[in-house]
Amino acid sequence: MAVESVSAEAKLHEAVQQLRDSGVRITPQRQAVLNYLIEADSHPTADEIYKALAPQYSSMSVATVYNNLKVFKESGLVKELTYGDAASRFDFDSHNHYHIICSECGKINDFHYPRLDEVENIAEHITNFNVTHHRMEIYGICPECQQKAEQ
Ligand SMILES: [Zn+2]
Ligand SMILES: [Zn+2]
Repeated sequence: MAVESVSAEAKLHEAVQQLRDSGVRITPQRQAVLNYLIEADSHPTADEIYKALAPQYSSMSVATVYNNLKVFKESGLVKELTYGDAASRFDFDSHNHYHIICSECGKINDFHYPRLDEVENIAEHITNFNVTHHRMEIYGICPECQQKAEQ
């Protein structure tokens, strides 16, 4: 779990403000989806978000969740993580950290590491590309799955 320097509440406030500034209407459902993403460190799928929020929001549907995720993605608040054929997972503000992925259960954890700026510089230098970003994933077996395997 990441050490949070900014409270979830402040992040939500800032994100809502950013959406308002770009003309996005804030509904209670929209705010709930956003809040869930900020508080969850599990990189949930749309289905998981729906299941978590449906009991409190009877008019919420999976389509509502997808629709909101699309809006958040377009405003740059949320990143969509796609790994192979598995359902997309969503991550609030995913710059500044890398992912380690369990090959057994698909869990994604965050870890912080200084940005690999040097790789981008070298890539730019060698290829003459204008580098915009990079993506790095680490794979392994998570502690829970290691325990299961030992039993
Ligand atoms: Zn696992
Ligand atoms: Zn993440």
